[in-house]
Amino acid sequence: MPSATLRSRLIAMVAALVAVMIGSVAVISTRVAHYEIRKFDVEVRAGRPGAPVAIGDYYRAHGSWTGVGPVVDQAARAAGLDILLFDGQRRLVATSSAVWRDAHLDLSPDGTLAIERLTAAGNAHQLIRGPQMLVRDKAGNVAGSIFMLPLQSDAPELPATRSLDRSFFWTFLGATLFGILMAIAIARWISVPVERLTAAARRMESGDLTVRVEPAGGAELAELAHGFNAMAAALDRNEEQRRRMVSDVAHELRAPLTNIRCELESMQDGLTTPTQERIASLHDETMQLTRLVDDLQDLALAEAGRLEINAQPMAVSALARRAAAGMETRARDRGVNIQCDVSDDLVVLADARRAVQILTNLLANAVAHMEAQGEVRITWERSGGDAVIRVIDSGVGIPADELPRIFERFYRVDVSRSRATGGAGLGLPIVRQLVAAHGGRVWAESEVRKGSVFSFTLPISI
Ligand code: ADP
Repeated sequence: MPSATLRSRLIAMVAALVAVMIGSVAVISTRVAHYEIRKFDVEVRAGRPGAPVAIGDYYRAHGSWTGVGPVVDQAARAAGLDILLFDGQRRLVATSSAVWRDAHLDLSPDGTLAIERLTAAGNAHQLIRGPQMLVRDKAGNVAGSIFMLPLQSDAPELPATRSLDRSFFWTFLGATLFGILMAIAIARWISVPVERLTAAARRMESGDLTVRVEPAGGAELAELAHGFNAMAAALDRNEEQRRRMVSDVAHELRAPLTNIRCELESMQDGLTTPTQERIASLHDETMQLTRLVDDLQDLALAEAGRLEINAQPMAVSALARRAAAGMETRARDRGVNIQCDVSDDLVVLADARRAVQILTNLLANAVAHMEAQGEVRITWERSGGDAVIRVIDSGVGIPADELPRIFERFYRVDVSRSRATGGAGLGLPIVRQLVAAHGGRVWAESEVRKGSVFSFTLPISI
């Protein structure tokens, strides 16, 4: 399971990090503590009266180191330490223990003594900062350097360092356990929300679009959960829209198809005769079906972003006149007069055929919703880099609560009126898509029994 791998990797990573950190701190602090304890021990013993002072006295009395051996031994015994005496040329002159004679000793001019020797535990390297005492001749030159070291009867562990090591061990163990628990907690904190998201994604994959996840974990994981929920909601909405669209299309096709079928069957059965009038009515029904299919195709293309827009500079007045001319017969039949603005012309960047289609759809709605004889006007004005084009009618208007929904597919305020005019509720959605494809926007204002204003923008050609 991939999330189990994530969790175990997190645990391993955090635990390793904690162990390395605590381990290195433990090693360094143990070494430092050992060193400090030994140094402290040496300093305390070296501070005892008579320790290395006698060695200095010897040199001052004799003017050389010859025969200093017994004095060194005695001073070492008195101090309870090993003593190493180097002359002015940093050569070993005397030592209280044979251990140091076999060792390789190197005293550097800065007073650091490097010791390399074989012990029971193996090859030991030591660096000792010193010396603890310098002996000077009368002229003030260094005649001898005295180093005092813990007794080297192979340096038995001091009881103080042993108990310190024990407490270091337990602290280290406790901290490591705590680190592992922390690692498990952190891994759970990260992996549980990820596991939940994975499970939700799997459920969604198998078709359950209602699934949502509880935001948990850090801010980023909670954000991911919110994003997932938003995506699930959008998919759910789209799926619902798709279902509604299929059922709406079926519903819209059924009515004209049933009319045509009934009419044809009754002619077949000899119940009616195929008069010119009946054939014309059948033709109307098929034209309505053709329009519906064309509209659906336009909408599908536009929604898929595959509508070809061949934008050219076009005079708005020319577009308005073409749309008005196409609508003239229908308007005249209803006693409606279409008026085009006579104000300053504007040149927009638009696909002529699609722009006329936008205006035709808006004019068709305006004409269809005029209650009595009257006037429908097309106006335009400049607003920044856009032309705002309006189709204004004095028709039945649209109730305020319906207004936000009229650009939805298959939405009709007055179904019987729309059906009578052959509308399937696709005119405005197509307008919206066509306007958007030109980079513009469309909106409507309306007042019941006063009329409606549909406005849209098209970019002005520079
Ligand atoms: P249809 O093809 O049915 O006209 P539309 O998408 O063009 O569909 O319009 C949706 C609905 O908006 C229409 O059914 C109608 O009720 C309402 N509508 C559109 N334009 C107007 C208008 N100018 N006046 C009143 N109602 C309108």
